[in-house]
Parts: sequence; C-alpha cells; structure tokens
Amino acid sequence: MGSVAPSLAEMDASVVKVTRRTDLRDVPLPGSPEELSHSYCTDHMVTVRWTAAAGWETPEVRPFENLSVPPTASCLHYATECFEGMKVYRGYDGKLRLFRPDCNGERLVSSAQRASLPGFKFDELKVLIAKLMQIDGPRWLPKDQPGRFLYLRPAMIGNGPHLGVQTPKEALLFIIAVPWPDPSKKKPEAAGGQHGLKLLASNPDTIRAWPGGFGYAKLGANYGPSLVSHGKAQAIGFDQVLWLFGEDRQVTEAGASNFFIVWENKDTGKLELVTAPLENQLILPGVTRRSVLELARKRLTQSSGSLAPVEVVEKQFTISDVHEAWKEGRIVEAFVCGTAVSRATPYLTQIWSCPC
Ligand SMILES: *Cc1c(COP(=O)(O)O)cnc(C)c1O
Repeated sequence: MGSVAPSLAEMDASVVKVTRRTDLRDVPLPGSPEELSHSYCTDHMVTVRWTAAAGWETPEVRPFENLSVPPTASCLHYATECFEGMKVYRGYDGKLRLFRPDCNGERLVSSAQRASLPGFKFDELKVLIAKLMQIDGPRWLPKDQPGRFLYLRPAMIGNGPHLGVQTPKEALLFIIAVPWPDPSKKKPEAAGGQHGLKLLASNPDTIRAWPGGFGYAKLGANYGPSLVSHGKAQAIGFDQVLWLFGEDRQVTEAGASNFFIVWENKDTGKLELVTAPLENQLILPGVTRRSVLELARKRLTQSSGSLAPVEVVEKQFTISDVHEAWKEGRIVEAFVCGTAVSRATPYLTQIWSCPC
C-alpha cells in the first residue's frame, strides 16, 4: 500500500495578513540616540511560522513587538539561526528601492539549508519586504527626504521547544526594519580618519571559517565566536579584523565585509583588482562584492580616458603577497565592501599584521 506524502504548504507572500497598529512610534531623527542605538525598529514587522508537519503558515505583517520563545528553543542552544542584511532606499524620484533583493533571498535560502532550517522560493522574500514597506515606508522614509534608507534584517530561527539535539521541527522567519546611521555622513575620524579603515590581520590561533565549514553562510554561529578578536582589535585602535586562513595565511575577508586590493601584478606589472575566491566556501558571497566585480569587469577592463585597464581576478593571495607588494610600492588601494558598512562606497584601508 502506498501512502500519500502529506503536502507541506509553500511560503506564499501574496496571502499576507495585515494587522496595523494604532499607537504609531516616533520616527527618530537622523543622528539621534535612537538611530545610533541600532535597536529601534519601525512600527511593524513580518513574521511567518513554519512547522515540519504543515509547512509555511500565512505570513503576517503585524505590530512590532518582542518575540516569545521557549527557553528550550533550538536557536538558543544550537544556533539554528541565519539572517540577511539589506537596505531599502527612498529614491530621488520618490520611489522605494531594494538593492538586488533576489540575491539576498537566494542567500537566505542557502544559509537556511546549511542550518537545517526550511527553504522557500527566494523571491517571496522581496514580496514580504514590499508588504512591510507599503505600510511603514511612507512615515519612516518620507518622500521629501530622498537618499534616506532603513536597514532590513530578515532572519530565521529554529524556535521549536525540543531540547534534544535534532533538526528543527518549527521555525520562524521574521523581518524587521531599523533606522540606521548613514555611513557616508560619518565624521572622517569615525570612519578611520585620513588613514582610512584600519584592519588587524587575525592571529593563526583564531580562524573564522574553514573548508567544509559554513563561512559562506550568513549564520549567527559565525559571528559570536569572532567577537573576542574583534573586541581586541578595537581595543588597540583597529576597526575590523582581517581574517586570514591556513598555514600560508591567505587573506579572506574583513569583519562582516569583503576585502579587495588593487595592485600591480608582480609578474606582468598590470593593474589587478583582486579578491578572495568563493570556491573553497571560506568567505561570505557578498552582494556588494558581486556587484563590484560585475561593474569592474564591465567598465574597467578596457582603458578609458586616463584610466589604465584593470584585470579583475578572484584568487587566493596571502598576507605575505600583500607585504611584498607594499614593500615594492605596487599597492594602489584596498577597500572593504558590504551592505552595512558601505553604500557600495569603499573606504580606503590600512592593514597591519604581526609577522608570524
Ligand atoms: C554580510 C557579510 C558580507 C557582505 O555581504 P553583502 O551582501 O555585500 O552585504 C561580507 N562578509 C560577511 C562575513 C558578511 O556577514
């Protein structure tokens, strides 16, 4: 006798249920303590529950409030959590825009898979965000203030109550929107001053990601353990850790952003824009990284005007390669990029590493 597999509901953002709040919150002013707190959210949030037995439930846009999870919840003990970081911008034409949201949707699904959390059709994410912004957009990103943006944090947690170590049987996807300080309006000294961003190369005793691990996924489990190094770097005046990997000390990425260097190739003397590759799954495939690569390949590989052509390369390189290039005066610039740290506007960087 064949049994019929139960059909699990797919995520369907088109049937979202909306509950509006009546006690609207004050919208914080740019530069206010609320905005700088990175914790003050807009009036509403999106939540979508999932169970292994029934699949995705009806998505909801509802008043922002604290979540309730059992103290035994999977995410609190086993880090069954993944997230995304995006921004929604008010354009000068009055429209709201997301930057390549399908890339974030795809990455969220890939991260969820790595953490045994449920999948969904990635383009549902942008539909859910659009619903949230239909409601919170007009007040939180006023039309007369073009250029403003909100930081969006979609996240998924295993919130089931089973303390035994097992794949999550319940999950919650939620999306919150957070007023965020504009990095382009930071005082120069706060953005690294005239020296640019200062990166401290990691010590061999601390590794962010390794082959077969999950460095390529945006999992909370990647970040908590990196905070000791980050704190130490900040305590001695650096902005971020530049994560190295392996005995040859390959340069991977910096903090929660991807790292690029422009140098003259040692053998050919040609200008190269170099960043770590994706194949070994050590680094997070940044949407900004991908955009920088695509734009550079499209526009910089032929000489234009006074600009010499630049070869765009994703390859492994080591901190010794960087040292050598520096000594030989071949480095043109270096920068990091990521949604939270830049509006695709790279900062110049300064790198320091102990010769281990
Ligand atoms: C989020 C993140 C990035 C940048 O990704 P974007 O999609 O460009 O914002 C880079 N590295 C790490 C470790 C990250 O978490």
